[in-house]
Amino acid sequence: MDKYMKHKLPTWLQPVFKSQRTQNVEQVPEPMKELYIRSGFRVMNQPWSYYLLSLFNWHNETLNVWTHLVSFVVIWNYTDHLGETFDLKGSSAGAVILAYSIGALLLTFLSSVAHLFHAKSLKHHYLFFALDYIGVSIYCFGCGILTHYVFSPSETFRVLRNTYIPVHFFLCFNSFLSCTVAKLYFHGNKRKMLMVSGCFAHTLWLLIPIFARYYYCIVDTSCSVLSLNHLVAMYICLMATSVAYVAHQPEKSNPGAFDIIGHSHQIFHIFVFFTILAQFNAMTYELGMTKSVNAELTVNQVYTVHIILIVIEITAVIFLLPQLNKKVKEIENCASAKQN
Ligand SMILES: [Zn+2]
Repeated sequence: MDKYMKHKLPTWLQPVFKSQRTQNVEQVPEPMKELYIRSGFRVMNQPWSYYLLSLFNWHNETLNVWTHLVSFVVIWNYTDHLGETFDLKGSSAGAVILAYSIGALLLTFLSSVAHLFHAKSLKHHYLFFALDYIGVSIYCFGCGILTHYVFSPSETFRVLRNTYIPVHFFLCFNSFLSCTVAKLYFHGNKRKMLMVSGCFAHTLWLLIPIFARYYYCIVDTSCSVLSLNHLVAMYICLMATSVAYVAHQPEKSNPGAFDIIGHSHQIFHIFVFFTILAQFNAMTYELGMTKSVNAELTVNQVYTVHIILIVIEITAVIFLLPQLNKKVKEIENCASAKQN
């Protein structure tokens, strides 16, 4: 904060804009390093207010937090807007919208919280990203509800009626566990590959009703494949999101040049937002045509399954806590041995 700003700002607002020093990659422990990012790491073991105020400072997580905070506000408004057309709490279409929207809201909010506070300590780093993965799994669960109840052809819905959601629920938990365990035991590319492979089977399961939709459209001479373009847009965004996550571009080509603005995780967050917008667009397009879904669904059923999934995942984190504490101790002992 320069002298001019200091005189202009009220005293109570000055800490918000007080510039914070950051560290280089050599000064942070291994699990907090990001591939090809060289600087802009916040200092560990500071008061909580330091991390909260880091929202208004430039570091390598600033745009990761803001991209998902802005997404959260847009999704909230979009859902509110849909409430003017659909009875969100009293209809099956409304229950599907809420199942999807709550997932998207939790995904973006918990991701922002994780990116904002994880640098407090190594233990917090693991715990906040476990929280982030809980948000991802609730979002994925909402995607499954949307696919099964809205995008699935009625023939496929009937065949998978009793299996799709239970298998999907298990795969959501499996993806959460794969990401949390991979984060705890592996670093760099190995970790990312384990996370992506954990989510791969899940993505295939999510795609089955969409493939069936294409099949029924192709064999039906009165159906134009172009009428499914809203679904294609959704999956193009999803593929771009996956590529942004694993490619590490542009920082891989020019390490250190994109530490604060422009690195791949920020691009990944923006594509996540585009995917959510494309899903909202596809959902409102299809619901707008029929205003009905494949079967009855209530908001209470949606809330119940969300709560069960969250409770199981929090229990898994509690179960992993001794391993987490052991891992943190090992890294801290290793770091102090290097210093001595
Ligand atoms: Zn993120």
